[in-house]
Amino acid sequence: MRRILVTGGAGYIGSHTCSALARANFEPLTFDNLSTGHRWAVKWGPLIESDLRDPRAIRSAFETYAPDGVIHFAGSAYVGESMMQPRGYFRNNVESTLNLLDAMLDCGVDRIVFSSSCATYGLPKVLPIQESHPQHPINPYGESKLFIERALWWYSQAYRLRSVALRYFNAAGADPDGELGEAHEPETHLIPLAIAAALRSGPPLRICGTDYSTPDGTCVRDYIHVSDLAAAHVASLRALLNGHIADFTALNLGTGIGHSVLDVLRCVAEVTGQPVPNQACPRRPGDPPVLVADSLAQSVIGWSPAHCALPDIVRSAYLWHQEHYEVPF
Ligand code: UDP
Repeated sequence: MRRILVTGGAGYIGSHTCSALARANFEPLTFDNLSTGHRWAVKWGPLIESDLRDPRAIRSAFETYAPDGVIHFAGSAYVGESMMQPRGYFRNNVESTLNLLDAMLDCGVDRIVFSSSCATYGLPKVLPIQESHPQHPINPYGESKLFIERALWWYSQAYRLRSVALRYFNAAGADPDGELGEAHEPETHLIPLAIAAALRSGPPLRICGTDYSTPDGTCVRDYIHVSDLAAAHVASLRALLNGHIADFTALNLGTGIGHSVLDVLRCVAEVTGQPVPNQACPRRPGDPPVLVADSLAQSVIGWSPAHCALPDIVRSAYLWHQEHYEVPF
């Protein structure tokens, strides 16, 4: 069975990907410091409780487990926080990833799938956003992801490292079998916060900006089901292991459908049967008005999303929160 080192495998998208890897007959080795991940989310292989800031620990994991490839999720992922704490974002997302890449090169592991983001594009000039769209991030989070994309490209040229960077749009939803779901502490994402507001287990939903140049004044995003993201990682890994990707490739992962914050609140109200108490608030720094994907993923790795409808995504998140998880504040 082929072994894949999954950094951040105890996190939201990482744990769903470990589950998908196991179903596809890979053994996921979760490398995670549990700073934001959860021990309970590591169910399909060993947990290496360790830190990417420690180069010796990474090297030791490669020597002990001899993985065939890497999927790299570990990092900090809040746009708003990155505006306040850019230092942490560059240390955690750039320096740690360079440590990981050093260990890969030193240990002869030459295939990696990297968690990138639509935040690398900045303010879109053309919608939907294609992979060839210019990348000018407007927040440190996006900048840190772009830096690593560029490093991966240069490493592919100099060291023949093969990589796929997956530029996620808005990850949402939960495993349809109810085994996993979103569990951020504190929660900052729209869908779980809107569900908590509807169920009165959280405060009214703060609508961050009602004066954007969008049809209803609120931000438009492309929400993609976390199980679809997980499937895209497995498909990318297969393409790398089969030799179909020779150097560096970047792919957008989205549905191509945009929903405003108000659309999401309406959908949450329909799914939960409760209105979502809300209040209009100022814009959140670092947020572009619209992010919607066009994607080459179907032609390059044979992937397309299976759960495109927003009510399906919201329903899976609702079931997870009802049965398993209380949103923390
Ligand atoms: N948002 C909001 N209120 C919240 C959280 C998010 O209005 O309490 C908006 C946010 O401005 C963005 C969209 O919802 O336009 C999605 O934000 P989220 O934090 O879920 O994901 P991100 O886009 O930061 O990855």
